[in-house]
Amino acid sequence: MKVMKFGGTSVGSVKSILSLKKIVEAEARTQPVIVVVSALDGITDKLIATSKMAQQGDEHYREEFDAMVKRHHQMIDTIITDDKKRVDLFNNVDQLFDQLKSIYYGVYLIHDLSAKTADTIVSYGERLSSHIVAAMLKNGVRMNSRDFIRTARKQGKHVLDTELTNQLVKETFSDIDSEKRICVVPGFIARDRDSHETTNLGRGGSDYTAAIIAAALNAEILEIWTDVDGFMTADPKVIKTAYTINELSYVEAMELCNFGAKVIYPPTIYPVCVKNIPIKVRNTFNPEHPGTLIKEKIDDDLKPIKGISSIKGTTLITVTGLSMVGVIGVNRRIFTTLANQGISVFMVSQASSENSTSIGVRDEDAAVAVEVLNQEFQKEIETGAMFPMHAESGLATIAIVGENMKHTPGIAGKLFGTLGRSGISVIACAQGASETNISFVVEGRFLRKSLNVLHDSFFLSEYKVLNIFICGIGTVGGMLLEQIRTQQQFLMQSRRLKLNVVGISDVDNFVLDRDGIDLDHYMETLRQGYPANTEHMRDEIVKMNIFNSVFVDCTASRQIAQLYQTFLEHNISVVAANKIAASSDYGSYIKLKQTARDRGVWFRYETNVGAGLPIIGTINDLCNSGDKILKIEAILSGTLNFIFNEIAADVPFSETVRRAKEQRYSEPDPRIDLSGTDVIRKLVILTREAGYKVEQEDVEKHLFVPDDYFEGSIDDFWRRLPELDADFEARRKVLEAENKRWRFVATMEADDSDPSQFKTSVALKEVPYGHPFYGLEGSNNIVLLTTERYKEYPMLIQGYGAGAAVTAAGVFANIMSIANI
Ligand code: ADP
Ligand code: ASP
Ligand code: MG
Repeated sequence: MKVMKFGGTSVGSVKSILSLKKIVEAEARTQPVIVVVSALDGITDKLIATSKMAQQGDEHYREEFDAMVKRHHQMIDTIITDDKKRVDLFNNVDQLFDQLKSIYYGVYLIHDLSAKTADTIVSYGERLSSHIVAAMLKNGVRMNSRDFIRTARKQGKHVLDTELTNQLVKETFSDIDSEKRICVVPGFIARDRDSHETTNLGRGGSDYTAAIIAAALNAEILEIWTDVDGFMTADPKVIKTAYTINELSYVEAMELCNFGAKVIYPPTIYPVCVKNIPIKVRNTFNPEHPGTLIKEKIDDDLKPIKGISSIKGTTLITVTGLSMVGVIGVNRRIFTTLANQGISVFMVSQASSENSTSIGVRDEDAAVAVEVLNQEFQKEIETGAMFPMHAESGLATIAIVGENMKHTPGIAGKLFGTLGRSGISVIACAQGASETNISFVVEGRFLRKSLNVLHDSFFLSEYKVLNIFICGIGTVGGMLLEQIRTQQQFLMQSRRLKLNVVGISDVDNFVLDRDGIDLDHYMETLRQGYPANTEHMRDEIVKMNIFNSVFVDCTASRQIAQLYQTFLEHNISVVAANKIAASSDYGSYIKLKQTARDRGVWFRYETNVGAGLPIIGTINDLCNSGDKILKIEAILSGTLNFIFNEIAADVPFSETVRRAKEQRYSEPDPRIDLSGTDVIRKLVILTREAGYKVEQEDVEKHLFVPDDYFEGSIDDFWRRLPELDADFEARRKVLEAENKRWRFVATMEADDSDPSQFKTSVALKEVPYGHPFYGLEGSNNIVLLTTERYKEYPMLIQGYGAGAAVTAAGVFANIMSIANI
């Protein structure tokens, strides 16, 4: 014999209830079946909310009531096709609704909602759904669970009278094995053994009803049919990568449920565990999936951690005082006092000095817990031997669970290491001697992040997630998104890396989505986002508190560069195509690097110099391995190299500048290139990476356009530019005769006698035939590094130094280096 429980979503829609019918009727062909049902999805909440409206005299309660009636009627109309059956069912259901309507009206009139009335109202959900399911099933017979599920009052709560219930269940179902009927039982509801009033087993209690019946009748199995494929490694509503666990032991399931895994109501496991009846968690929406089997012992299972669960509203009450040291019985008094109030403690942590004990209780129990503990220790508090109770709420408790933990060293180390690296501090922790779980308390705002990092580290270690924010979607940012989009699948399959773009911004809008933005349609998504606002974006990103994340700056904005410090401080790595941060004042550049190091995250900006060329990384590698950079000579401006390659007898200087702008080599205002500003920034970055302290003002400038050309308007500049042509042409002729070429060279050179002294300059130089810079084509870049190890033959790096595709690829490479796969 089987007991099958179907939850709210399983009876909540036409599709699911028809699936239930198929599943149950197939099963009933081979053996007797008892079906336990919840109320229609959301109805229990609605019944409660509506009764509160009625109590407050809000007559809109009637509309809520009518909506509930309509939902049940519509369901019946669609699923029951037999006319006679439908009429009978409508009669039964409407009779219940008539009663409910009168009760609500009473509550509305006298503005009173006693516990007894509230319990009566809430029972209608299961009473209604069980009528519908019984009528729908072939040979379905509805049972009244209040006839055999009995509770008693204890400390103001309803608790199961196990003995009486067992006896009544056995009597009720005595001939179940010989019957062809399918018994349909409303879950959750019960009756008080003394007063005979309607009671219930607590929210989520239908699971418990099913377990009680299964245990009393020694069922072969208890099946919990719900809306997920089984018991999962974490709540799939929070952790998108959670997956179904094949098998769990009773102890593991119990621990996970006690710490908040809602998929099974915690008291459910005990009755079936005692009788060694297995539980199977299955999906009504996907009956082909085998689900999760929960039983006593699991063979051949080496996984130390099976799952993670959490309790959101946790209050930590700290009982502290000097008198506690060595005093026997303080703990006994704490627990007895709380137990007398029916308050359950799910975590205890005591420091070895014994003068402080912290206990975790649910937020809703906190006020009473504090009050009764203060009363219990009133004398000690008055004498000053103990302090009044200290309660901290707004916390969350998380537990990692697995029976094999006790055979595996290093679990706690991995747990706290992972949290520490993510900037999450643990407020209290506990590990039972049975070593089947480690539980700990964090601030509520860290809950989601903690679950994510832990799930990643314990369950997805072979598969990594990197969360990316992309700021600026001009030529580089747009290309980067395209490259990520095309590589996502490959990286997932071949490198086990999930690149999750969780934020995108441009000048008009920004959009954030922790589940990942669909890159096929990101423009539409972006347009529906927030209006652009740097501070708002910064705050929202920090608030997301997302693990393994990187902020990618593809803008040229100073305002955006000013956000890096905050991001790094919040454990968000930064990859910048934007040069401003690395080239502005030395103090803030060092602070960014230091913060990244302290926080265990990255600040990377390889594309600041030479786009996709590996220049900064190479200098870092040389220095890290003990080499010393003695000289850097480089052509770092693609624009200027283009200009000096184009210049010819029939192409005057002014024309080359014009072409550079038209062909988009230069900045929209070419003076930024001609003034050397861009090259100076790059040289400053390279010099700093080589270990020298330098500011932009320290760089000597030998330019080729007079200074006054950079003042005035851009129109003035274009008008006056041809005035320089004649002089350039005269000098070009001489140069050609000498077989030389112009190159705009950036140089850093350490002093021969004292390598801590150095000079930096940018200058237009005449380079002879045979020099490595002579033949540099188009807009390419080149860097010549003379180091202690590369002295006679310097190291040379050369290639495209600009362009959206190579720059985006360089940014992508930086992102990949952070993923560290
Ligand atoms: P039912 O109405 O069928 O009783 P519940 O909503 O009570 O369903 O429980 C199922 C839900 O439990 C899932 O939809 C899921 O969001 C949540 N849940 C929390 N933790 C887990 C977990 N570890 N495995 C599976 N589901 C979980
Ligand atoms: N309907 C009840 C609730 O929502 C019981 C259950 O679904 O298990 O809490
Ligand atoms: Mg449930």
